[in-house]
Amino acid sequence: MQSTLSLSFSPSSSAAAVSRSHTTRFSLNTSTPLNLRFCGLRPQALAFNASGNHRSSKLPSRPRSQAISAALSANGSPPKFFDYDLLIIGAGVGGHGAALHAVEKGLKTAIVEGDVVGGTCVNRGCVPSKALLAVAGRMRELQNDHHLKSLGLQVSAAGYDRQGVADHAINLASKIRNNLTNSMKALGVDILTGFGKILGPQKVQIGSSDKIVTAKDIIIATGSVPFVPKGIEIDGKTVITSDHALKLEFVPDWIAIVGSGYIGLEFSDVYTALGSEVTFVEALDQLMPGFDPEIGKLAQRVLINPRNIDYQTGVFASKITPARDGKPVRIELIDAKTKEPKDTLEVDAALIATGRAPFTQGLGLENIDVVTQRGFVPVDERMRVIDSNGKLVPHLYCIGDANGKMMLAHAASAQGISVVEQVTGRDHILNHLSVPAACFTHPEISMVGLTEPQAREKGEKEGFEVSVAKTSFKANTKALAENEGEGLAKLIYRPDNGEILGVHIFGLHAADLIHEASNAIALGTRIQDIKLAVHAHPTLSEVLDELFKSAKEPPEYSSSSGRLGHIQKPVVGNRWKETTDSHGMNSRGVLDVVLSLFLSFFSAFQRCLASMLHFSN
Ligand SMILES: Cc1cc2nc3c(=O)[nH]c(=O)nc-3n(C[C@H](O)[C@H](O)[C@H](O)COP(=O)(O)OP(=O)(O)OC[C@H]3O[C@@H](n4cnc5c(N)ncnc54)[C@H](O)[C@@H]3O)c2cc1C
Repeated sequence: MQSTLSLSFSPSSSAAAVSRSHTTRFSLNTSTPLNLRFCGLRPQALAFNASGNHRSSKLPSRPRSQAISAALSANGSPPKFFDYDLLIIGAGVGGHGAALHAVEKGLKTAIVEGDVVGGTCVNRGCVPSKALLAVAGRMRELQNDHHLKSLGLQVSAAGYDRQGVADHAINLASKIRNNLTNSMKALGVDILTGFGKILGPQKVQIGSSDKIVTAKDIIIATGSVPFVPKGIEIDGKTVITSDHALKLEFVPDWIAIVGSGYIGLEFSDVYTALGSEVTFVEALDQLMPGFDPEIGKLAQRVLINPRNIDYQTGVFASKITPARDGKPVRIELIDAKTKEPKDTLEVDAALIATGRAPFTQGLGLENIDVVTQRGFVPVDERMRVIDSNGKLVPHLYCIGDANGKMMLAHAASAQGISVVEQVTGRDHILNHLSVPAACFTHPEISMVGLTEPQAREKGEKEGFEVSVAKTSFKANTKALAENEGEGLAKLIYRPDNGEILGVHIFGLHAADLIHEASNAIALGTRIQDIKLAVHAHPTLSEVLDELFKSAKEPPEYSSSSGRLGHIQKPVVGNRWKETTDSHGMNSRGVLDVVLSLFLSFFSAFQRCLASMLHFSN
């Protein structure tokens, strides 16, 4: 059966009235131009056109739910007819992304949520943490006298109201949660409340009731929870996880952060901006172990060393006892390799940021013969669930943190979209090497693809050379205008064919800048092509422009003319091949640096002269 949505928007309210009928038509009524955008909801999904004029459009006809004859494993036979085309267990970002795409593709879709819509990202992750980081960023600016003076600004002492900051994070989470819920409701996704348990093939029990729902395809999107190592006692007040820290119930004078991955690092940015002293406890030999080592080093120089942060690496927190009876939090450290006792810290609070554990208990995986691996649901590259015999479980997929492939919000959502593409008849494999990641410190760190050591290892195995190009933010006009020249962009590529293997950025708005590189990797764009892209001046995007231009083209593309600058030759269709004298491009970067140094000397000289004149008067 096909169902349809008919949405009416009143200009005064964004609330949408939804009704179902039997023709697949969207009709939208709005008399004022609408520029509505719910989180992750594309306007087209609501059949808006850009000008906001209403129109009716036909949704792609939904593949009809049908009886499945596939040989299915034990634990109950598959139903003949289904309540839904697609049932998603877990309404986090992954489930939400899948649900929106599914209705766009015409699937009758339901999503089951055992807690609150939005999952980790919206309620206990990306969203509230970015609200706190936004405050941290402003505090840093207001406290940075040197920076303010260099811009000619004077600001009296900056302060903050802890509850006000906490409320900002809470309110943002609640706003985004409502947007997510409304976007699904508006599109006709049924939101079923309760804990979903798989009873057998294509059958899910909702909550503890007798309600059983059947679906042709099922996606597990149950996410993750903070991982707390043995020996650590969480009291939610003085020994906390990110779930508690995001509520900002207090700002400790001294906090130990156990784990220096991106979550720990972001919290160190927040706490130090709000006045705390931070001690990192890291089991590996270096801080920020997941980052490209060169970017990690620079990040340490800017984000750790000058701040009120110290650290111990190569140590495990073997036991942590919360503060009680007037005693501080006690952290017992052992050597990560020898396991010998190393040190004891006494601090006001400890934040445990040692990673995330998949949330897959009680899901009924045993009913379909699936055995988790350290809690993660095993999947193939198409997110199809694999059973204990290594066989694919028909019509069952797992996306997001629960499969552990890449524990990021947008990766979860992209995996969900990829699954929907598959179940609607278009084969699709998500290239995880094209999925960007970012750490929202001040300044930000972002990355896509391989780190330099990973690329070199791959090159050695597969027999290709690896080259590296770099550009500094110091040569970028926009960064210098903001007085934020501290930054580096690094490109790792194959000189033989121009393939982009990885891009890493540390600097102002790095999280926004990375997408040009991730899209290039996703679309297979090579150095020789992306070099020709044009960037507005003056923008931070020119950092990437410089980066791509400073890379050497594969031999068949490089110029033999020996002239500086660009020579454009038509290649195929409307694509142009550029032959660039790399010396010419590098000179441009060098000239920019020289010019900016000259300008800063000149302005220092002017200031000096002005003060001499002032004194001589
Ligand atoms: C502090 C912090 C900051 C972060 N910052 C970022 C960031 O800036 N960018 C980024 O990309 N990622 C970030 N992440 C990671 C991101 O939050 C996760 O990768 C993302 O939320 C995973 O989405 P998901 O849909 O797989 O799972 P989740 O968001 O965890 O959602 C799973 C949902 O399933 C529900 N559920 C579980 N089991 C069942 C069941 N059996 N039945 C019904 N419902 C069930 C849960 O209640 C939950 O609502 C951050 C994480 C943290 C902790």
